[in-house]
Amino acid sequence: MQTDVIGACTRCKLHRGRNHLVFGVGNPDADLVFVGEGPGEDEDRTGVPFVGRAGQLLTKMIGAMGRDRDRDVYICNVVKCRPPNNRKPEADEVDACVGFLDAQLAIVKPKVIVGLGATACHALLQTTTPISKLRGRFTTYKGIPFMPTYHPRYLLREERDPDKKRRREAWEDLKAVMQRLQAAGSGGN
Ligand code: SF4
Repeated sequence: MQTDVIGACTRCKLHRGRNHLVFGVGNPDADLVFVGEGPGEDEDRTGVPFVGRAGQLLTKMIGAMGRDRDRDVYICNVVKCRPPNNRKPEADEVDACVGFLDAQLAIVKPKVIVGLGATACHALLQTTTPISKLRGRFTTYKGIPFMPTYHPRYLLREERDPDKKRRREAWEDLKAVMQRLQAAGSGGN
């Protein structure tokens, strides 16, 4: 599914402020999908998810997994249009948009999903458990193994992570994902 399929979507109020609908990027046959909460300013400007500073860190994290961002994974968000002032997507916006994510997952058929950050994980897993407690343990979303972890934007706030504990935990989560993929006989695409 491409942006021309969902086209000029007006299902929720986020369409009013968007410059670009940000659908997804990467390999639609990937065994691994990363899902964030929604586009930010850079993503709204370019139409590509995770291209700002957080995106650059995500690209490094993917590289540390021995993968290529364009070739070996698929990256998207729960909502496809930027919330004003980068606020969290509201429940009605998630409800309106999540069907597009589900359609993407039905096409990609990943073996593992990584949920990036509390907002995305809370929206998809229907929980309010802090991300620090959710992370590190597999659950499922629509029957697909799902690993919650920190959003790269959060990892960039070094004042909140002066000893890099969160970064180490995020890496532990990604190592668990690699082990899961290897156990499934899938080391990449
Ligand atoms: Fe449509 Fe999703 Fe954009 Fe809302 S966020 S207008 S549901 S594409």
